[in-house]
Amino acid sequence: MAPSARDRQLADRLEALLATQDRGRTRETDPVGFVHRYEDDADREVVGLVASSLAFGNVSSVRRSVARALGALGPHPARTIARGRPELERRLDGFVHRVYRGPHLAAMLRGAARLRRRHGSLGAAFGRAVKEEGSLRGGLARFADALRGQDAPRGLRHLVPNPRAGSACKRLLLYLRWMVRPADGVDLGLWDFSPARLIIPVDTHIHRIARNLGLTARTDASWTTAEEITEALRRLDPNDPVRFDFALCHLGVARDCPSRRDEAKCRRCVLRPVCLRW
Ligand code: SF4
Repeated sequence: MAPSARDRQLADRLEALLATQDRGRTRETDPVGFVHRYEDDADREVVGLVASSLAFGNVSSVRRSVARALGALGPHPARTIARGRPELERRLDGFVHRVYRGPHLAAMLRGAARLRRRHGSLGAAFGRAVKEEGSLRGGLARFADALRGQDAPRGLRHLVPNPRAGSACKRLLLYLRWMVRPADGVDLGLWDFSPARLIIPVDTHIHRIARNLGLTARTDASWTTAEEITEALRRLDPNDPVRFDFALCHLGVARDCPSRRDEAKCRRCVLRPVCLRW
């Protein structure tokens, strides 16, 4: 089906947003910047898991916590996590980020090490889970179950949420975006999985901007809302629907997109011609 005039205009404005963003500079303010500091793919997928899992709360405090956790894991995190207990617990002793404690992070990383031992990489484990479950959501749920292990305490269940439970699972979907989308200076394209199947990670910024752009009218930040926004974006780019996520999210992080019209801010916004607030 040919794209509608509205979709063509949306695509045009989103491309304009991409063109105006300094992705290199913005990346260094984002947790994904940590992943680019490592050269080895094994380290990158482990660092991505740590950085995305902790991406909860204020950006500066997230970056401080990620730096602390990675400092504790040393220069080769994939090798460190393979050593398991008690070394992981010792290295992460005293770690705190909001409701997460060192033992929660250590348990998730022991789960990651188990998956890497069994499948060779986290990417292979995820791909296998999706194949066996027959859907991204089911596969991600199985992958998350394996990361958590049995009898997970509350903090660990929050650190690694369950996609079956209905929440948007923003941090898990963010991790997928980083690992799966083609390398573009922000995302890394490490995993052999089709970007066409990704679902957008919905946080408060993406939710608000998606509503401003008419990509969803839903008021809850749920998995269903994430699917609805992704469907709307898929009409603009079926092969890579979450391509605009980073640019949209940082429009929100920079506080450049208010929840209601604001002449001072909106005057500069390239999305204004397609914004429902105007
Ligand atoms: S015009 Fe204003 S409200 Fe609309 S997307 Fe741009 S900054 Fe946000």
